[in-house]
Amino acid sequence: MKIVSTINEVRQQVKAWKKEGKTVGFVPTMGYLHEGHESLIKRAVAENDQVVVSIFVNPMQFGPKEDLASYPRDLNADSILCENAGASLIFHPEPEEMYEDAFCSYVDMNGLTDALCGLSRPVHFRGVCTVVCKLFNIVAPDRAYFGEKDAQQLAVVKRMVKDLNMDLEIIGCPIIREADGLAKSSRNTYLSPESRKSAVILSKSIFMGKKMIEDGERDASKVINAMKDMINSVPLTDIDYVEIVDVNTMKSIDEIKGEILCAIAVNVGGEARLIDNFMMTV
Ligand code: AMP
Repeated sequence: MKIVSTINEVRQQVKAWKKEGKTVGFVPTMGYLHEGHESLIKRAVAENDQVVVSIFVNPMQFGPKEDLASYPRDLNADSILCENAGASLIFHPEPEEMYEDAFCSYVDMNGLTDALCGLSRPVHFRGVCTVVCKLFNIVAPDRAYFGEKDAQQLAVVKRMVKDLNMDLEIIGCPIIREADGLAKSSRNTYLSPESRKSAVILSKSIFMGKKMIEDGERDASKVINAMKDMINSVPLTDIDYVEIVDVNTMKSIDEIKGEILCAIAVNVGGEARLIDNFMMTV
């Protein structure tokens, strides 16, 4: 496995693979990799001849008061995980390689990005769309793999690819969880032992909400309120949102039917803003 930091090196390698008729899978990440990322890489390895993993903490998708500076980084551990999972190439650029001084072009979106995380993170999805578009242009993959953990991001990337006629397939992969249910996240490392205990309430509320719908509840507000009560019943939790939306529009719904996304974001202990969700077709 190679680790490269320039766009040129990625292009040369991918060109050589394509000349040999090889397919290329791509897993974009911000690093500090865990079993969630590993599941994406392994799926990409199973479905493609060569796999590129990008590790780039993209400044453009962080707001001024967010955790860009403190975001955890460990390229050594990440490269071991990538190699063991079967990746062929890590692309690990510096911000200057991705954004030269004169940079002024963006990919932006309306509608899908106005709800959920877009409300409390107004610049986030413009940064995500711009960097993902750039990475697709650099890597030119046949398939790219994204986690359902970031369900709104997955929907946004799928929409961007369709709207802008990008020639690749986007594949969503299931959420990987800790033994107690907490969705794995690089940001879980921010949690003190006390907050970690409280954080499990996110997945508990997700499982309960899902069960309510499976048992026949169709009133979205009843499910949302039950989930909010559950989250508020433990210390150190500060709800950003608990929402049920149509997965194709990200608009809130009153009656649960069709393809729905139930998504939550909770600040835990003032240390980490964590997200979780479930998707269902009713
Ligand atoms: P990140 O490094 O947090 O930007 O995540 C990179 C990719 O890994 C995104 O597509 C995430 O949705 C995905 N991912 C992160 N955590 C998980 C998880 N627990 N299960 C599945 N995919 C995940």
